[in-house]
Amino acid sequence: MSEAPHLTVDLDEPGVSRGHLVVPGGGDRAELSLPVFSLNKGEGPRLLVTGGNHGNELEGPIVARRLIKWLPEAQTCGRVIVLPVLNPLAVEAWSRNTPLDGLNLNRVFPGRADGSVTERIADAVSRVLLPMADTVFDLHSFGPTWDFPPAATTHPITDPGLMARTVRMAEAFKLPLTLVWQHNDTAGMFDITAQNQGKVFVCTEFGGGTVGADNLAIYEAGVRNALIALGLIEGEAEYPTFRQHKSGQTLETRPADELKSPAAGIFEPRCSVLDEVKQGDLIGILHPIDSLSAESINMHAPETSIVLAVASGAHVDANKVVALVARPLKK
Ligand SMILES: [Zn+2]
Repeated sequence: MSEAPHLTVDLDEPGVSRGHLVVPGGGDRAELSLPVFSLNKGEGPRLLVTGGNHGNELEGPIVARRLIKWLPEAQTCGRVIVLPVLNPLAVEAWSRNTPLDGLNLNRVFPGRADGSVTERIADAVSRVLLPMADTVFDLHSFGPTWDFPPAATTHPITDPGLMARTVRMAEAFKLPLTLVWQHNDTAGMFDITAQNQGKVFVCTEFGGGTVGADNLAIYEAGVRNALIALGLIEGEAEYPTFRQHKSGQTLETRPADELKSPAAGIFEPRCSVLDEVKQGDLIGILHPIDSLSAESINMHAPETSIVLAVASGAHVDANKVVALVARPLKK
């Protein structure tokens, strides 16, 4: 019998606590100790902030560390728990999935106590930390081969009340984009486990293959705005500037909004994120690399929409998503 997942500190103690979430060992490796910060100021909202769910999305862990720095000065009530790195094994490898078992942490929730290491991390978070929060911010990035605007996202939620509260919370980040993202790969997501317990869960996403100072500043401002909206800190929320935009919009996207490459090759974007396009506008060009006599293929917008994400690097296989479009959310 392995021991149960647990915390090395009592987060109910008032004030700042620093300790670890202990993920028990198993057949594949010894126990893991994930650093946890908590600031308990009594009555008020109970927030959990996590980063490093995917190991090649590093803005989240950085912004989580910044939050830990300024929170003790700023927080006026409630409790904030911060776990900057959910999956250190993936972060060390700069890998989306855990190298040891090949699993995507964000597809194995709520996890298994007797599973492989990724499943044990999910189990520890679900059983030990999640019950301590009413609201969860999971800080992601969109991935290294995409351009994507700073966004607070959710998926469609069956409970309309929870859906409305979640969209309101996501909009409170005041990021350039608030997104309701319908896709067919949601089983095992952290979101689902939290929402099944009635919690408001917002997943922030960031694009680009590099971690840059400008983007980090926008990301941090978004988290600060959300904390102001929750009433955890005082201050004036405002839209950060992103590529000359200083406003936000709320959009929705569905699987049918994915533009897929008609052949293998190099994708050349002919639009930028947040561009408004009309039906038939050129979105990008697919250049085959195996023959100079093979024509490059133009890819067009299927309907009037707003460009959400554009593949910004790497050779693509045929039928791979190279762009996503969206339209204003109907509320
Ligand atoms: Zn992610």
